[in-house]
Amino acid sequence: LAAVTAGTAELAVLVARFEELALTLGRFDELLALEPDLRAGPGRPAPALRTGVELRDVWFRYREDLPWILRGVNLHIPVGASVAVVGPNGAGKSTLVKLLCRLYDPERGEIRWDGEDLRDLDPASLRDRIGSVFQDFVSYDLSAKANIGLGDLPALDDLGRIRQAADRVGLSGTLDALPRGFDTPLTRLFADEQADERSDDLADGLLEDGLEAEDGRSPGGSYLSGGQWQRLAIARMLMRADRDLLLLDEPSSGLDARAEYELHRVVSEVTGGRTRLLVSHRLNAVRDADLIVVVDQGEVVEQGSHAALMAGDGLYAELFRLQSTGYADVSAAAGVTPQS
Ligand code: ADP
Repeated sequence: LAAVTAGTAELAVLVARFEELALTLGRFDELLALEPDLRAGPGRPAPALRTGVELRDVWFRYREDLPWILRGVNLHIPVGASVAVVGPNGAGKSTLVKLLCRLYDPERGEIRWDGEDLRDLDPASLRDRIGSVFQDFVSYDLSAKANIGLGDLPALDDLGRIRQAADRVGLSGTLDALPRGFDTPLTRLFADEQADERSDDLADGLLEDGLEAEDGRSPGGSYLSGGQWQRLAIARMLMRADRDLLLLDEPSSGLDARAEYELHRVVSEVTGGRTRLLVSHRLNAVRDADLIVVVDQGEVVEQGSHAALMAGDGLYAELFRLQSTGYADVSAAAGVTPQS
């Protein structure tokens, strides 16, 4: 029985990975086939967002035999506002983002896009209106160019835009230095013994072109380090910065403090004034948000501006005090005066 349980858990992880992959690629049809919970059918095209998105008493759990992950969440994201969701690990922050782009539907309650229930809108058209960067950065067996312009076909003919996005995250020098520049396949798999056929083909192609494994790739077969992959994921998001709703799920996790600070600055600059939801457990990245929502164990426990929450002296103030020393160090190193 233990083996069966472990197998099921692994399968669940695989299914979740696939769902997120399908989402990122905009392959909602496949996702719908996988997710019987999602109401099938085309729905109305999602209209341009004019007033905002609202969660009303949203309850969600991944399966009936699992605990509730979101328990009666109410949340309003007005157009043009930046809303930050913070809270301890496992609080349900990423799950909330997944519901917003309709990877899952609430079991109770509803999510409204300009007053329209998300379930009445065509998922693919909804997806086109949302730009997202997920916590699990996904890297694809694609060229550097395609990895950045992913899901945005016109962009692939417009190297200028792709280069601009790479510039903004400080990655264009790295990509230019690759054997084929922005056209270099960035697969992470081809040096792996377990690589599938597709990666083998890619590897063969590269080797035929005289590219050996000693040309700067890491032992895992990737040209890019973890931090560079994350920059690439942010460049991907910058390509979509004109979408109606931006969802940023810990875009800087795993970076060192200095790099994180720099990227946060770039993302704020590019997404400023746009409707956006930022999920983070790094409170220094969210203090400028119009509204900060604190989630704990699936419930919204506090919300308000940074100043109001600090004055309230609750969970946010406690977490912030715990983290603020690190922030002061980084700000000083970056030549920035911390604001209160
Ligand atoms: P946070 O983003 O705040 O760290 P998450 O939304 O990622 O929290 O996770 C909340 C809870 O939901 C965790 O206990 C996590 O293990 C669980 N969870 C997340 N994804 C899945 C899934 N696909 N299936 C089952 N449980 C999940």
